[in-house]
Amino acid sequence: MNREEKYDIVIVGGGPNGTTAAAYLAKCGMSVCVLEERPEAGGSIENVEVIPGVRIDPHATYMYAGAAPGFDQLELWKYGFRMDWRQEKLDKMLAAMMATGKIHLCLTTEGMAKPTEKDTLNWMKLTGMDPSAPFTRELLRAIYWCPPHPPEVEVTAENIPYMQVYKRHQPDVWTEELLEMTLFELMDEYVESEPVKMLHAMVSWYSGASPEWEGVAIPALGGECLLGYTFSNPPRGGMHDYFHAIIRCAIAHGAVIRTCCPVDEIIISNGRAAGVRLRETAAQGEKTIWADKAVLSGVDVKQTFLKLIGRRHLDASFIQRIKDISLKASSIYVSHFLFKGRPRYRARFALEGTDMIPGQGVYPCDSREIYYEHLADINGRKGPPSMPVEKVMWIDCGSKLEIPDACTIPGHYLISPLYVIVPPPEYLVGGPEAIDKQKAKWDAYMREALGQVLETDNIVAQWSNTPWESEHRNVGLIGGGWYATRHCRDQWAENRPNRLLPELARYRTPIDGLYLCNQSSCHPGGLALMAIPYNLMHILIEDGLVEPGDWWYPSPWYIPQQGKISAKPR
Ligand SMILES: Cc1cc2nc3c(=O)[nH]c(=O)nc-3n(C[C@H](O)[C@H](O)[C@H](O)COP(=O)(O)OP(=O)(O)OC[C@H]3O[C@@H](n4cnc5c(N)ncnc54)[C@H](O)[C@@H]3O)c2cc1C
Repeated sequence: MNREEKYDIVIVGGGPNGTTAAAYLAKCGMSVCVLEERPEAGGSIENVEVIPGVRIDPHATYMYAGAAPGFDQLELWKYGFRMDWRQEKLDKMLAAMMATGKIHLCLTTEGMAKPTEKDTLNWMKLTGMDPSAPFTRELLRAIYWCPPHPPEVEVTAENIPYMQVYKRHQPDVWTEELLEMTLFELMDEYVESEPVKMLHAMVSWYSGASPEWEGVAIPALGGECLLGYTFSNPPRGGMHDYFHAIIRCAIAHGAVIRTCCPVDEIIISNGRAAGVRLRETAAQGEKTIWADKAVLSGVDVKQTFLKLIGRRHLDASFIQRIKDISLKASSIYVSHFLFKGRPRYRARFALEGTDMIPGQGVYPCDSREIYYEHLADINGRKGPPSMPVEKVMWIDCGSKLEIPDACTIPGHYLISPLYVIVPPPEYLVGGPEAIDKQKAKWDAYMREALGQVLETDNIVAQWSNTPWESEHRNVGLIGGGWYATRHCRDQWAENRPNRLLPELARYRTPIDGLYLCNQSSCHPGGLALMAIPYNLMHILIEDGLVEPGDWWYPSPWYIPQQGKISAKPR
């Protein structure tokens, strides 16, 4: 067997970010090799058939990437991707809201909440969803699909991409104060009803940024918009089929994807990333794969520097700053429920006169006091929920009801996933496995939590995965969470992965030829899939490594770095 191979680019980790980067680079004509530890690429975009006829997603389940340029640039439709961007379900939901005066998703202990006209109109104004002058896609691309500005550029209210979008489309929303606000403060200005504020706050929290964090009001609101943008129409086949389209695209352009190939070391030669060495347990054990132009790390930022590179190539202060990156974002206890017969709302939630399927929503949206109680468990006591089950906040069960092949057992319905935020294993009082040791207890608790809204007598099966399982048993998602590290001001945009690590802010590293391409290390983190590879493309073009064809277009808000090649087509 040949013990050595050579490619232009070697990518460590075949998760969504590593594989999408491979598709982009192979499309530019580079020879690319992706090395994935597990038997299947796709990272946390996986689909598990827990019993015949029932498919759950332990991790990624919603399409947050609807606004990505990658659909168009990678021509994913050619590789089997199908999604309907029309907002039919949203329209249906709005119609039900008009008919009943209630929001289907906004559940309080009293029943469904009623938004005021101001709540709805102002929300559309903030998010660009007003059908007469929509700008949601532009707003989302500005927040997520644009690399941070170069270090020599002072970041101001004038050049922050999303501020430019507001100035152009909603000048009366634009104020420099947006840059200091928390999402709660923004809501207090634009939304009247507390339950509606809580609905937005919760969806944002679960999508990336906490509503009480200063300076990230718009990125937090953006998290909710990412979800809302295509929430109504999931991709055909769900997220797993989305990933298949990406991997087919990469392979069609010549990328080599090797599974069962854990990387043990990134080889540094004369201060430059020269290739990788596979672990002895790899399908091609201890083989060396050289990279002529660059190595991309698609695995988490701590593994990259603390394990694959190691101390002798990095200075002590850098290593300490990597260790200090905070994982205190929040991790998710995920539950999946199989119902025999249609799920039924408890009487106080019934929506007469509509055919909405029950089982989607955020509960309880009564007030932010409940939220702060929940937060105290996570950031203060650092333990599982200590509050009574009537108050624990959960979100968004029901997405699988929209995907026909998720449950094919006649007469059965899958409510999945039900998310409850808990601390990451790393910070859990009682040790990383403290929740897992009492899994049966927490499963019962989650069922009871769902039971606050739905009748549970016809639940016939339940599955769950804890953050520890997401992190240590399944896919190695650091912190067991879905954006890996925090989206607070200190770890957002040009400050990601951490304000104290400015040398990593634009996907480059202190090691020549080594670039970052994982949610934990790069702006904008997880969920907005295809954003990191698209943003990274700007940097690789700047460094003269790739020259894309005329299919490429950069972000309109991108500012080229001085002394580099501009990623704007000549
Ligand atoms: C509970 C949960 C729910 C989520 N829900 C959603 C959702 O609804 N929608 C959404 O878009 N996102 C969701 N996410 C987030 C999404 O899964 C991540 O944003 C995404 O997986 C990040 O991709 P990545 O490529 O950066 O990292 P990863 O997916 O972690 O990929 C890294 C890959 O590298 C491999 N690897 C690790 N070490 C090595 C090594 N030494 N050598 C070789 N390979 C290695 C891993 O096996 C993995 O395949 C969810 C995550 C969780 C935990």
